[in-house]
Amino acid sequence: MRPDLPSLLRRITDDAFAENDWGAPADYIPELARIKPAQFGIAVAPATGDVMTAGDATTPFSVQSVTKVFTLAIALGRSGDQLWKRVGREPSGRAFNSIMQLEQEQGRPRNPFINAGAIVTTDQVLDQREPKEALAEIVRFVRAAAGNEDIHINDRVAASEAAHGHRNAALAHFLAAYGNLRNTPERTLGTYYHHCAIEMSARDLALAGRFLVDAPGLPRLISRTRIRRINALMMTCGHYDGSGDFAYRVGIPAKSGVGGGILAVVPGIASIAVWSPGLNRYGNSLRGTHALAQLSTAMEWSVF
Ligand code: GLU
Repeated sequence: MRPDLPSLLRRITDDAFAENDWGAPADYIPELARIKPAQFGIAVAPATGDVMTAGDATTPFSVQSVTKVFTLAIALGRSGDQLWKRVGREPSGRAFNSIMQLEQEQGRPRNPFINAGAIVTTDQVLDQREPKEALAEIVRFVRAAAGNEDIHINDRVAASEAAHGHRNAALAHFLAAYGNLRNTPERTLGTYYHHCAIEMSARDLALAGRFLVDAPGLPRLISRTRIRRINALMMTCGHYDGSGDFAYRVGIPAKSGVGGGILAVVPGIASIAVWSPGLNRYGNSLRGTHALAQLSTAMEWSVF
C-alpha cells in the first residue's frame, strides 16, 4: 500500500535532517558558496489537489540550471525545430561545463541542458531583442507557470557568476568561433547569468513545474508533444553525467541546478521540487537526489 503523502514528506525531511553529510554548495559562484548546506525543503504539486510541502519549502533559492527547462520551452515556442540545428539531443556523459566536448562536436553542444547548450538556447531566445525583453519573457513564463507574480532575478547572484564565469565565457567564445552564436558572447552570457539567477522556493518551483505534468485542469503553456519531448530530455540529460544514475535510482524526468534545486515530473500525476544546497560530485543536490529516490520508490512513481 502506498503511504500517505504528507506524512511521507515529513519522514523524508526528518531523514534528511538526521544526516551528517550534506555535500558542499557550489563554490565557483561566491554568492552560492556562502549558503548554509544543512537546509532541505520539498514540495509536491499533484495534478489534482493542493500543493504539499515539508522542511524549508518556502525559502527562496537560486534555481540556476533548472531555468534551462523554461528557456528551452520558450526557445521551442519561438523557433520550433530550428533550434535543433544548433544544439543536439544526446546525453553528454561529461561535466555540465565541459569545454573539451564542444570542440569535439565542432561547436554544436550535445543537449540544451549542459551549459554550452543552454547558452545557445538563451541566444535563440534573445533573437534580435534587448536582453531585458528576453529576460522579461522568461520571468513572465515562470510566474505564469507558478501562478506567483512575486518571482524575481537576484542581480547579486548574476553579477557574482559573471565576475567568475571564465568557463562559461570560454564556452560562449568557442560557440562564436564556430559561428553558433548570433549575439556577442557578453550579451548572451549576461542574459544567461540573469535567468540562472531567478529565485524561487521549492513550493514555487513545484507549482511552476505543473506545465510539464500533462493532466486535465493544469496550466497548458506548451503542446502535449513538447511536454513529452522536454520530459524525455530531462530524463536523459537533466543531471549531466549523473543522468544515468539518477534514472536508475529515481526513474522520473528531472532537472537539477547548482543552487541545489531539482524539479522532477511524474507524468500525469505530479510535479515535485526539492532543494538542499549541498551538491554531490556531479554538481547535483546530494540530499535532494536521495529524497527523490525515497519518494519515487515509496510512491512507485518510477516511469519504468
Ligand atoms: N549558472 C550555472 C553555470 O552556468 C548553472 C549550472 C548549473 O546549475 O548546473 O555554471
